[in-house]
Amino acid sequence: MIEELNKLVPDIEFSVGEQFSWSPKERKITYSKENIDNEGCWALLHETGHALLGHLAYKTDYELLRMEVSAWEKAKELAVKLDLEIDEEHIQQCLDSYRDWLSRRSTCPSCGTRALQEDASNSYSCFNCHACWQVSPSRFCRSYRARRPIKDNVLF
Ligand SMILES: [Zn+2]
Ligand SMILES: [Zn+2]
Repeated sequence: MIEELNKLVPDIEFSVGEQFSWSPKERKITYSKENIDNEGCWALLHETGHALLGHLAYKTDYELLRMEVSAWEKAKELAVKLDLEIDEEHIQQCLDSYRDWLSRRSTCPSCGTRALQEDASNSYSCFNCHACWQVSPSRFCRSYRARRPIKDNVLF
C-alpha cells in the first residue's frame, strides 16, 4: 500500500515512526507499522490527503479543523483510486474528537463562554468576562489513538 501511495505522491517521503503524522516542513508522512490494520490504512490515506492538498500552516484552531475535514475528503478520493473504502463512522469519530478538543480549548476557563482565538496566536480571549488564556500549539492530526487527559485552557 505504501508503494501504491508513493506512486500517487512521488515527491512525498514515507517513513516509519511511532504514530501517523504529516510534516509539511519535511514533506514527510510518518506511519506506524504496528497499526497497519484498517484504521492504519485510513490514517495513512488521511495523511496523504494533507500532503496532496499542500497543507502547510494554519493560523487558528478553527482553520486546522477545516483542514482536517478536507484531508478526509481527499482521503476518500484516494481510497476510491486504491479500491478501498473508508468507514464514514470512523471519519466522523476522528472529526468529533477534533471538535471536542477545539471546544475544550475555546471555552473560557473563567466563565464557560465559547471564545474566539486571537489570530495567529495560541491565545484566546473571552468577550464576556475578558479573561485571556493560552493553549498549547496545535498540530495536524492530533493522535486520537493516544488519548491522554488534556488540560488545554489555562488562564494566564
Ligand atoms: Zn469568560
Ligand atoms: Zn489530519
